[in-house]
Amino acid sequence: MGTKIKGVRAICTAPEGINLLVVKVETDEPGLYGLGCATFAYRHLAVKTVIEEYLDPLLKGREVDRIEDLWQLMHQNGYWRNGPIANNAISGVDMALWDIKGKMAGMPLYQLFGGKCREGIPVYRHADGRNLEELCENIERFQDMGITHIRCQCGGYGGESYGTVPQTAPRGAQPGVYLDEQEYLHDTVVLFAGIREKLGYKIQLVHDVHERVSPMTALRLARALEPYELFFLEDPVSIEETNWLRRLREQTDIPIALGELFNHPCEWKTLIAQNLIDYIRVHISQIGGITPARKLQIFAEQYGVKTAWHGPGDMSPLAHAANIHIDLAAPNFGVQEWSGIEPPNYVIQELSGLKGALLEVFPGLPEFKDGYVYANEQPGLGVTINEKEAAKYPCSSPVTVWTQTRRRDGALQTP
Ligand code: MG
Repeated sequence: MGTKIKGVRAICTAPEGINLLVVKVETDEPGLYGLGCATFAYRHLAVKTVIEEYLDPLLKGREVDRIEDLWQLMHQNGYWRNGPIANNAISGVDMALWDIKGKMAGMPLYQLFGGKCREGIPVYRHADGRNLEELCENIERFQDMGITHIRCQCGGYGGESYGTVPQTAPRGAQPGVYLDEQEYLHDTVVLFAGIREKLGYKIQLVHDVHERVSPMTALRLARALEPYELFFLEDPVSIEETNWLRRLREQTDIPIALGELFNHPCEWKTLIAQNLIDYIRVHISQIGGITPARKLQIFAEQYGVKTAWHGPGDMSPLAHAANIHIDLAAPNFGVQEWSGIEPPNYVIQELSGLKGALLEVFPGLPEFKDGYVYANEQPGLGVTINEKEAAKYPCSSPVTVWTQTRRRDGALQTP
């Protein structure tokens, strides 16, 4: 008789002001449990309900070691499949089951994926600034930390902050995060020219369009940025407009990274098999966890597409650890986004005033040192949770405003 699942629980915590959702799978073997990330920061209560009301009764009493079968079971059990709420809930359990398997094997997860292809993971960080000078200072601050790849932006993805309706909008226009495509296009090109002039060509630069422009503007931007030799251009078009990628490909040699919003294999299969992207950037809890992410990584490898998993602040250290374990064992690893969970995290500290709480809630999170991130050598994911500490930081559900992105004329634009 194998080890069985005793119960599946959701733990909600916001140690740095961002809602995080963790799944704990407990087993009938004393002391043996697993943890996984189910974070969908802006709909966490919906995911929690799926975990506690549907997945817990479905999984109780089943054997913990059948990860693939349980993944399929969770995926098919509601009849209608996919979507961020279901996939994040499944991811929480999936990662926890991998964590348990690692603990049973007495090995860190990268060992179960075939062992290390590299010792540490090179990461890129996001640098912002109100102007070129401030941005370059922030880039240099990251360079001092050993970071070689920097994603650059002025003024939060080209938009203003929420609430300011610009003069150029029509009368009665709704509040939102306003973006002027023409201005953004021009400013971004000037910005990258300035960065290269100030800092030279030794540093790798990334830019994230964040799906915030029309495909033709993305095409013009990609062509205009060519002289500045970007490492890649992130999300130049939305999921709904990936048919434009072929045209982008034909007209520019800028490397393309795409996919942090992807949910479903149909969204990436063709893009990879037809070499329409260079880097796959899925958010691994969003596609259902480690099981589908490993399949995707291996599929992408067959076509020479590299990984650059999404690694923002709105995912838990368990998901960061999952990224790192897959990266360590992936021959087609490209680069890893790192939101800076190592202290001090300037950005989050400035926003929330909270200092280092993440480390107290999640002991064992991957360590950043001199430009590389390292998994620890503990069995499984290597990250635990201090539930007493976690309870000090309750989640909340205010209306999300940063996603209310609007064009010059006030119409909504994908955020
Ligand atoms: Mg992005």
